[in-house]
Amino acid sequence: KAKDDGRNNLQLYTSTINSYAIERLNMENNLRKAIDQNEFFLHYQPKVDVETGKVVGCEALVRWQHPEMGLVSPNDFIPLAEETGLIISIGAWVLKSACLQNVMWHHVGYRDLSVSVNISAKQFQHQNIVEIVSKVLKETGLSPEHLELEITENCIMQNMERTIAIIQQLKDIGVKISIDDFGTGFSSMAYLREFEVDKLKIDKIFIDSINHSSRNAAIVASIINMAHSLDLKVIAEGVETEEQLSLLKTYKCNEIQGYLFSKPLSAEGFIEMITESKTSP
Ligand code: C2E
Ligand code: MG
Ligand code: MG
Ligand code: MG
Repeated sequence: KAKDDGRNNLQLYTSTINSYAIERLNMENNLRKAIDQNEFFLHYQPKVDVETGKVVGCEALVRWQHPEMGLVSPNDFIPLAEETGLIISIGAWVLKSACLQNVMWHHVGYRDLSVSVNISAKQFQHQNIVEIVSKVLKETGLSPEHLELEITENCIMQNMERTIAIIQQLKDIGVKISIDDFGTGFSSMAYLREFEVDKLKIDKIFIDSINHSSRNAAIVASIINMAHSLDLKVIAEGVETEEQLSLLKTYKCNEIQGYLFSKPLSAEGFIEMITESKTSP
């Protein structure tokens, strides 16, 4: 009897693995199709200058509209895209589309807008990102100072030597570099001595309880002070309340991004929002 139970458990176990593997394979096929059929599009979340209250640019965030599954969140497909290497072509599309969109905004008069693009570790460490970025700048005509690349601490730590070299080359081209989800990675922060990034993006988890945890508030204030003494700018992500904003203001945080100001918007929605905030008194 005990033997039978063991076998049943094993069957259950293997069939769970199988259905997981099948699900994954299915998703991978869907992703490949999505690339062929252009099922991706971009949303843009405004980045706001804390001092002036003006929109200085936006972050491009990829969206996947699947014919049956509907809208799939990046958190549900970017990890698989990274594992399978499909992020290389998705990422190339995102980079080019975001730059092209920004150039179009420049053409219609919004000449100071900059665009941030998330670059995954696979893209950064396993392909010639410098060549790809210069090619996109050339093809789209975007000036390098209007492009900001967001990379994570974990990406940097995967290969410090290479990262130092690549960041230097990207800086030489003239694009800006910011460290996304700052404070959450497995990082020694020693990298801050090694190369010059432009901006730290403090992760939402620190912002969430900034008004309720003096420890969190102390961490945020310290990050901002450290960044400023290193001549770096600071942006806070996930700002949802006026209370959070007012604390960030007293800490002299440079920019904010979050639902308080705006959720990620379609390209049309983004430009509408800017136009409205310009004409309002
Ligand atoms: P991230 O780069 O840290 O982007 C911030 C995420 O937080 C976005 O989610 C944004 O919509 C969300 N967010 C912004 N403000 C608020 C807020 O006030 N409250 C809350 N609750 N959420 C807020 P999203 O668009 O779902 O993207 C999730 C993650 O997926 C991104 O985190 C990024 O790591 C990744 N991702 C998105 N687009 C791309 C892309 O084009 N390429 C790569 N490699 N990764 C991407
Ligand atoms: Mg980001
Ligand atoms: Mg982030
Ligand atoms: Mg984040």
